Amino acid sequence: AKANGRNCLKVFDPDDPQHGDESENIAAILRIALEQRLVSLVYQPIRNVQTGALDGAEALMRMKMPDGTSIMPGTFIPVAERTGAIIELGRWAIRTVCKEMLATNKVKVASVNVSPSELKMPGFSTYVAATLAEYGLVGTRLAFEITEGVELDVDTDVVRCISELKRLGVQIWLDDFGTGFAGLSWLRMIDFDTVKIDRSFLHDCETERGRRMMRDIISLLRHRGLRILVEGVETEEQETLMRQYGIEQIQGYHVGRPEPARRFGNLGWLPSPA
Ligand code: C2E
Ligand code: CA
Ligand code: CA
Ligand code: CA
Repeated sequence: AKANGRNCLKVFDPDDPQHGDESENIAAILRIALEQRLVSLVYQPIRNVQTGALDGAEALMRMKMPDGTSIMPGTFIPVAERTGAIIELGRWAIRTVCKEMLATNKVKVASVNVSPSELKMPGFSTYVAATLAEYGLVGTRLAFEITEGVELDVDTDVVRCISELKRLGVQIWLDDFGTGFAGLSWLRMIDFDTVKIDRSFLHDCETERGRRMMRDIISLLRHRGLRILVEGVETEEQETLMRQYGIEQIQGYHVGRPEPARRFGNLGWLPSPA
């Protein structure tokens, strides 16, 4: 188990034998939740900080319990990964994003978080291709976020899967940049379209030392030709700073909280007439 509490592992550690029963319970609940349609997606807007336009949205999973309370992904995703339920959940998420955000033209681009086991599962890119075709979508409108906060052995299977996705036009984004160990080596191995800088770096921008760090990261990513998105923008001042730094995209509570697809009604993107 990881030492940092980013995914609530301190509260609930699926690898801790003491929590074995709880883990079994959550795994069973996950199966039932998917069957009974208690799983849903909310979408957080992505703003182009230079133009002010809505560039896209990120899908985040929620799970409603029969008693009406919600379980957050930091609690159930690690269990889903451990039990293999993530494969089914992930496929459901990809399909749902295509259906409720892309086919309806609510946004131009929507991103979906993917777990390492999904990328390693044979047939992943075939599933993505079939789902895009089913909704008549071009691949460029879909992005997958791979977090560097998890252990992912970038072996030939993963590299092959990513190049198959890229051949479909699907975008590959690096999530939580700066929080893990792998980021820099992944930049050598994977042709990312966007790098999402973790919000901890933005919060450090309160000090001169933190701002220098942010500028260094930006210049590194810039030199590699990567599009940069900064996460966790919570204030107008932070947005202004990111605009001054030449960042392309931002995300965070200041731009918008995650909301169900129906809330994206008229804010969204309109395809240009053919
Ligand atoms: P993430 O991909 O880094 O998503 C960003 C998290 O930060 C979300 O938490 C979001 O609600 C929260 N957030 C957004 N803006 C702000 C802000 O301005 N300030 C603060 N303090 N927080 C902000 P959430 O929805 O609880 O998701 C937690 C993590 O669970 C995600 O982190 C992602 O790694 C994972 N996750 C969520 N949905 C899925 C999914 O469908 N599949 C997989 N594999 N993982 C998922
Ligand atoms: Ca993400
Ligand atoms: Ca994450
Ligand atoms: Ca993130």
